[in-house]
Formats: sequence, C-alpha cells, structure tokens
Amino acid sequence: MSKFKIQMADEGVQTTSTKLTDTDTKLGAKGQGCSLKENIPEQRRVETDDSQGYDMSARILVTENIVGPGMEGLKAKYDVDWDKDLWHKPDELLRMVGTYDALIVRNQTRVTADLLKGAAGCIVVGRAGVGVDNIDVKAAADLGIVVVYTPEENAISVAEQVIGLMICLARRFPAADASVKRGEWKRMEFMGTELFGKILGVIGLGRIGARVALRAAAFGMYIIGYDPYLTNNHFAVTETHAKLVDMDTVLKQSDFITIHVPSTPETKHMINEETLAKMKPTAYLVNTSRGSAVNEEALYEVLSKGKIAGAALDVREEEPPRKSPLHELENIILTPHVAAFTREAQERVVESLTEDVDRVLSGKPALRFANFPLPKR
Ligand code: NAD
Repeated sequence: MSKFKIQMADEGVQTTSTKLTDTDTKLGAKGQGCSLKENIPEQRRVETDDSQGYDMSARILVTENIVGPGMEGLKAKYDVDWDKDLWHKPDELLRMVGTYDALIVRNQTRVTADLLKGAAGCIVVGRAGVGVDNIDVKAAADLGIVVVYTPEENAISVAEQVIGLMICLARRFPAADASVKRGEWKRMEFMGTELFGKILGVIGLGRIGARVALRAAAFGMYIIGYDPYLTNNHFAVTETHAKLVDMDTVLKQSDFITIHVPSTPETKHMINEETLAKMKPTAYLVNTSRGSAVNEEALYEVLSKGKIAGAALDVREEEPPRKSPLHELENIILTPHVAAFTREAQERVVESLTEDVDRVLSGKPALRFANFPLPKR
C-alpha cells in the first residue's frame, strides 16, 4: 500500500490568482446548505476553543491528481494522504478507506456503494468537477455521507472549448496546420464556413449549454435548444434568447449541434444511427459532455460516408479509448477530456471543493452538494 503526503511544488496545474466571482459566492451562500454537524462521529469530537468542538486532525484521502492552494490549506489543517494513482487500485482503496473522514476524487475513482460502506468514518466525499456519475450519490445519502462537488467552477472553460472546436471544425484548422507542416500550401483546399448566421442547436441548456449559447450569440448565431426539464421562463432560456424546441427540430435545423447533458439512462446513445440520420449533411456535432451520449459506431458510419460534415469529441464512450476507426478520419477533432482543464478553472475547482470539504469536517453546511443525506444520528 503506497501513501504519499501532498507534494505541491512539482505536480499538476500551475495556478493563477483568479477568485470566485461575487455571484458564485452569493449563489452558493444563498443555498440552504447541507449541514452534517451531527455526522461527525462522537469519537472525533474534541473540546478545544479553536476547533469549535471538532477534531481538526481529521484524515483526508485523495485518490487522483488534485493540487492547488486549496489543497495546501487542507494539508495545513488536516492529516492528508495523497496517492494520485489510487483510483485504479480499487482493492487497495477499499482496504484503506475505512480510517478516513473524507475522500477527495476526480472523475476516475469509482465511488461505489461497497466502497462507501467500507468508509465507516467518512462524512464527506469531494468530487473535483461537475459530473457525479462516478459516485453512488444515493448510497452516500443513505449512509449519511455528503457528496460535495463544483457545479459552476469549470463551466466557462468548457464553453470556451466548445466555441474553439466549432471554429476549428468550420475552418479545418487542425488539418490546415498539419498540411502546412507537411510542406504544403493548399489555400483553396481549406475554404471554410462562418459561424455567423448559422443555427446552433444546444442539447441540454444547463450551466455549460447556456454559457455556450451566450458566447455563440456574440458570433451572430441563432440558438435553438432541446431541454425537456426547462421552461420558457428559465433564465437559461430568457437570458440566452434561445428558442426551446423538440429534439427533432434541433437535429433537422441545426448547422452545429453541441451536447451538454448529464450521463443518465435517458441520455445514453441519444445520438445514434436514427438521430444522426436526421442531421443536415453540412452540419457539425460537438460533444464535451459525457461519451455515453454518442454511439461512436454510428458516428463513424455517418462521418466516413460524408453524411454529416464533421464532429468533435472531448469525451469518449471508453476513456482512455482503445484504437478506434474514428482516429483515422480527417473530419473529426478529438481531444482527451480536457475541456475543463484550464489553470483558472482548476484553481476555482480545487478552491471551492476544499472549502466545502473543510466546511463539512468543521461541522458547517456545505455550499455545493449533490445529495442531502439525513444526519447519521
Ligand atoms: P447541468 O446539470 O447544469 O446541465 C445539464 C442540462 O441537461 C440540464 O439543464 C438538464 O435539464 C438537461 N438535460 C437532462 N437530461 C436531458 C435530456 N435527456 N435531454 C436534453 N437535456 C437534458 O450540467 P452542466 O454543468 O452544464 O454539464 C453538462 C455536461 O458536461 C455533464 O455531463 C458534465 O459531466 C459534462 N462536463 C464535461 C466536462 C469536460 O471536461 N468535458 C467538464 C464539465 C462538465
């Protein structure tokens, strides 16, 4: 079993001084909060003035590469063990987890019901990022464990990547770059299209989808959106001027389609042979949400036969992906799940996450939580 104390200096993302905005803070603070004061096991409570009655030497286990000033803060206050490779050693993780008060993960650690049951002293699981599909959130709630995450913190970075991918698809920058580097100068081969005046279909007008819509509108795009859980009065609709339509309309009318849905049984393979067949032959598809939303085999069929113009995927059905026929195509842009990987987003993520883990360990309500467990006692 390998355990490492946090080493900040030479690992991970360099950080900047970007702070959460006032709005972010107010939004978080406005929420009801999820108090787990009662969850702190009796044996961990101590009577000291500065710890407000709670043992500040609580133990935290970090299973992936999560670094930043926020982690330094936790390290100064608590007993933090970090093994960035523990996520792919589930047996070892299960053996270790029982002695920790908090678990901090990204998207690769499978936080199953069995793992949570084995985490007898754990009162909080922190997920650095948005999707909590790698965590059994319900099992955690049943066990009185709060799951905290960072729903807003990387949305801007993902939205910016979507805009970047749409421009790269429309102007074929990756292929043009490769061509020049091969010594060619084929200007006419790289005739592109503008975003201006085109229809962007947004599937899932949540935190990221709405931010993409706002940015795309600045390029002069018309926005239509499919999101069965929003009404016309929701700010994501009113503030982006998106028109809510049904899925078929998005598929048939859009020049670009961008997907921003959570991974659920309902969204699995929502882009498939049947839905792809409804897209325009000139249309582009972008997926930065979860790989499960797109059936890659069906996507390969339409791209290889030129039935749609192109696609960009940041997320894959299997990550890391095996060798795939998609990798041979020129009309697809592939990135390795990096839409949220900017220095600014990662600093915000780690700062917010560590703040919430600290709050729960100190008996205060979490500000960003994915479940609402009943107190253990
Ligand atoms: P969100 O919860 O704010 O928004 C999701 C939206 O999808 C909601 O408005 C919801 O109503 C809608 N939705 C749910 N089911 C739907 C369906 N069947 N059809 C259409 N709409 C549906 O989430 P978000 O923060 O915008 O994140 C969106 C996705 O992006 C998530 O899957 C998240 O995991 C992923 N993500 C990826 C990266 C990355 O690095 N590539 C980074 C952050 C988030």
